[in-house]
Amino acid sequence: MKVAIVGAGLGGLAAACHLAGNGHDVTVVERDPAPGGRAGRWESNGYSFDTGPTVFTMVEFLERTFNAAGASVEDHVTFDRLDPGYRACYADGSELFVRAGREAMTEEIRTVCGAHDAAAFGPFCDWLTELNRVEVPNFIDRNFNTPFDLASSPKAGIELLRLGGFGKLEAKVKTFFDDYRLHRLFSFQALYAGLSPFDALALYGVITYMDTVAGVWAPRGGIHAVATGLAEAAEKAGAQFHYGDPVIRIERRPGSGEVSGVRTAGGQRFEADVVVANPDVPAVYRELLSATPPWRARTGTYSPSCLLWLVGVKGDMPERAVHHNIHFSKEWTVSFDELLKKGTMMTDPSILVSAPSVTDPSCAPAGSNTLYVLEPVPNLDGKVDWSTERVPARDRLAARVAALGYPEVIECEQLIDPLDWDALGMERGTPFAMAHKFARTGPFRAPNIDRKIPGLVLVGSGTVPGVGVPMVLVSGRLAAERAEAMAGAGSRGKAGRSGSASR
Ligand SMILES: Cc1cc2nc3c(=O)[nH]c(=O)nc-3n(C[C@H](O)[C@H](O)[C@H](O)COP(=O)(O)OP(=O)(O)OC[C@H]3O[C@@H](n4cnc5c(N)ncnc54)[C@H](O)[C@@H]3O)c2cc1C
Repeated sequence: MKVAIVGAGLGGLAAACHLAGNGHDVTVVERDPAPGGRAGRWESNGYSFDTGPTVFTMVEFLERTFNAAGASVEDHVTFDRLDPGYRACYADGSELFVRAGREAMTEEIRTVCGAHDAAAFGPFCDWLTELNRVEVPNFIDRNFNTPFDLASSPKAGIELLRLGGFGKLEAKVKTFFDDYRLHRLFSFQALYAGLSPFDALALYGVITYMDTVAGVWAPRGGIHAVATGLAEAAEKAGAQFHYGDPVIRIERRPGSGEVSGVRTAGGQRFEADVVVANPDVPAVYRELLSATPPWRARTGTYSPSCLLWLVGVKGDMPERAVHHNIHFSKEWTVSFDELLKKGTMMTDPSILVSAPSVTDPSCAPAGSNTLYVLEPVPNLDGKVDWSTERVPARDRLAARVAALGYPEVIECEQLIDPLDWDALGMERGTPFAMAHKFARTGPFRAPNIDRKIPGLVLVGSGTVPGVGVPMVLVSGRLAAERAEAMAGAGSRGKAGRSGSASR
């Protein structure tokens, strides 16, 4: 089977690993000069920064992706487990370190929050582990053809019900812990899915599982190194890469409407039985197919966006700073209301300050540090005018970061706001895709195939299973499974998992 993959983001790369590893004839066409997409890299004045994801979890999904290409993680990327995974800082000046391992974290909770909450940590981890055990195979790592497919796993649904998965996340966390700091620490992850902890269903505790139990990892060279590693592995398995040339059209056969290949701005044409498309779903339809995006990608709520300030600073970090530092706001409910309901900036935002130079001094000159500062902000459906708000928002963020004790002598900086994300083709100016409300999760999310466009497969955060590095790695496997099923159906493909490969 000949496959053209549009985009070398982590989703496209994962699909390439699975498909090339299975002997298919794969060409990846990427508009940028390098792989990674959102997992990009910016270098300036001796500083280097990840420009997208920084918190890496679920190394096993990455291992599986490398294995599909006949490789393994350690051949391509070196990981360090971060301990602490996070430093959580609260407005009253207190701090909690998220320690690797149950015993160490139990002790941390005992010291900061007391014996009752320390005793609850083990049962909480057991609950998260159960959620993960039930959800991954039944609802995340599988393709759905229709919502009725949910009925094929009634036992899993009943188990989720038993685990309280259909209650609210924050309320569930409160059943374990008394201290408000732990309520925040173990429920803020809902925001990764575009939701507030008060509205998110408890089943999204699976994201809390990922960083709290599975752990936070730092790839050397940043998360961008994961992308380059996957590209190397896919290439070794036989995939070809064509960089620096955007696809301008997914071509279809007259009459049947089947895809037949892709055409690039540089005038190249790559013939294909199956096209796997990695850009955001609305961009694939509007820009590459001149078609209306599917209903499930047009309707629903897109996640909030973020203001990302990358800054190279001279000077030492505050004494207790670690790789990932979350500075929780004093306000909590009000902040989520502002961000998610009113569509305004949060008056008292929580922010993430990652400092990869703490772990890997080679990403900043001697005596200096890299800061990656992320503030959640409304997407372009909100009420913020970024043409006027950009500079004041940057200045407020800079003042906050300085007040928190981070170095202030700036040697290089880059600010990315929702208009910048929009210009990169990200729907509604958010890099976090469609929010994971229940009605846009699993079989209700924009599907990865379109029966009206045979041969088209979608991959990445806009489709199933969803947003975040672990999820888009899974989406690559699900896309490969779809592509092979198309080949197996006989009308289009030349090879399938059990058929003879065309290379
Ligand atoms: C600031 C930020 C922070 C984040 N933090 C985290 C985090 O800490 N942990 C986590 O797990 N996730 C995080 N995420 C989310 C995670 O990065 C994404 O969910 C994931 O990387 C999306 O991968 P993708 O393959 O779906 O999309 P992309 O990476 O966007 O891939 C799409 C690819 O298609 C290419 N492309 C687009 N149009 C064309 C065209 N016409 N022709 C050819 N190529 C094209 C693009 O250049 C790109 O390479 C973060 C994202 C951002 C931006």
